[in-house]
Amino acid sequence: MEKINASGLMAVDAESEAEAGGRLGICPYYKKERGGGQMNCEGATFRFPDRLARREYVYGFCAHPEGYKMCPLKIAMDHFYERKYAYHE
Ligand code: SF4
Repeated sequence: MEKINASGLMAVDAESEAEAGGRLGICPYYKKERGGGQMNCEGATFRFPDRLARREYVYGFCAHPEGYKMCPLKIAMDHFYERKYAYHE
């Protein structure tokens, strides 16, 4: 079940995470989370201070149906691919 936590970010409980097979990424650049505070996306490897900090970020941005659109790295990656596949006249 989704809940909004004190910081206004969406939190997902362990049951929902398990139902999704532990992979909740919605952002197209999301790759995986490792134990502790590490998370990989196509644009960067993140090292958070602990698991809770990682979860707060991932569920507030990467796995959030709207939040991922506001991630500065997602916007930068979109621009990267726009440049990469731009047609030159
Ligand atoms: S929301 Fe941002 S940090 Fe998360 S996977 Fe997408 S680009 Fe990476």
